Amino acid sequence: MNILVSGAGIAGLAAALELGTRGHDVTVVEYGRHLRLAGTPIDIRGDAVETAEKMGLLAEIRGRRLRMTESTRFVDSDGEPVGRIPVARISDSDDDIEILREDLMRILADALPDTAAICFEDSIGALAESGDGVSVRFASGRTRRYDLVVGADGQHSAVRRLVFGPEEDYLRHLGVYIALAALPDGTRSEDVNSIYNVPGRLAGTFWYKDKAVAVFQFRSEPLAYDRHDLDAQKKIVIDTFADHQSWRIPELLDAVRADPDFFFDSASQIHLPSWHRGRVVLVGDAGYSPAFLSGRGTSLALTGARILAEELDRCGGDHTAAFERYEARQRPYVTFAQDSVDGGRERMLPTSWSAIAARNEALRAADTDRR
Ligand SMILES: Cc1cc2nc3c(=O)[nH]c(=O)nc-3n(C[C@H](O)[C@H](O)[C@H](O)COP(=O)(O)OP(=O)(O)OC[C@H]3O[C@@H](n4cnc5c(N)ncnc54)[C@H](O)[C@@H]3O)c2cc1C
Repeated sequence: MNILVSGAGIAGLAAALELGTRGHDVTVVEYGRHLRLAGTPIDIRGDAVETAEKMGLLAEIRGRRLRMTESTRFVDSDGEPVGRIPVARISDSDDDIEILREDLMRILADALPDTAAICFEDSIGALAESGDGVSVRFASGRTRRYDLVVGADGQHSAVRRLVFGPEEDYLRHLGVYIALAALPDGTRSEDVNSIYNVPGRLAGTFWYKDKAVAVFQFRSEPLAYDRHDLDAQKKIVIDTFADHQSWRIPELLDAVRADPDFFFDSASQIHLPSWHRGRVVLVGDAGYSPAFLSGRGTSLALTGARILAEELDRCGGDHTAAFERYEARQRPYVTFAQDSVDGGRERMLPTSWSAIAARNEALRAADTDRR
């Protein structure tokens, strides 16, 4: 089949790999100028580890395994450690793998077969299904017909908007925003990754290989902003932390100002009654974002891409049957992931100084028990 995938993130690349290796002709359209490699480490958990093995990628993924969470400390305003993240409580098992988002993206992209190609700086402008295919008009103006369209374009999916309706109908805001900014070279001053809390907010530094990233999270009601206006998003973060000049916050806000690849988004879930309509199907955050607080978005993207490709194979071209089977097999993973976000928010973003102190006390007690 001739298949168009919208979005070259984890879900899009995994879908292109799985569909391409099964002999389909796959085009991935990505609106970025290049692969968007930003991000803190992400997790491959539970059945997604087995999925990575079936995809033939597990050895390479294991080779780039990190143990960042284990080396992350909550710190006070002097940078002194006040608690460790309880890894045992957030992992499903010792088999869980933490890896840089960038590394997983590269592993997937390098594994793409000749039958899959990525087309950058373009996106789907309109699509219409008729007869035995979908006609697509791209933002660049070109048009083409495909047998199937896979929407893997993330939490704010354009395919979902075009086919299923406005984002507001499906997006459930969890009351938290995240921002990431690259730190300039040479700013490393500690051996551990640090997270510093003020009520309802955190700022942190993560170091890996030769790179460093500043992380911000804060609680907030839904904010209205233009997702294509980077300066407006930077201003939100800068204003949110303006009254907090403690620890390294001023320096990290400078990194926000300077980073052209600055990333900002909400912790939101996508809840759709069905992930397919006609010849269009959604994979990954586009269809069922569990929110970054769950730590399971990447695992869902991998299992989703694999199951979709397997079912298209099994159903021998009957896309309707394949989409239904994909949904039936993937839905339990999604429900589990979407149900597992609350602990993360309470642990990472206590709402008052006394709640921060209580969290630190609990972490220290848990640490003592472990020894
Ligand atoms: C730059 C970036 C940084 C991230 N950092 C983190 C992180 O630090 N921690 C974390 O837990 N999660 C992070 N995520 C989200 C995480 O990657 C996903 O939750 C998870 O891996 C599921 O992947 P996905 O492919 O469904 O979505 P995503 O990884 O979000 O990928 C979606 C892709 O679609 C592209 N796209 C979006 N709209 C369009 C469009 N209209 N047309 C064409 N392409 C489009 C995007 O540029 C992106 O490449 C990040 C995502 C991105 C894009």
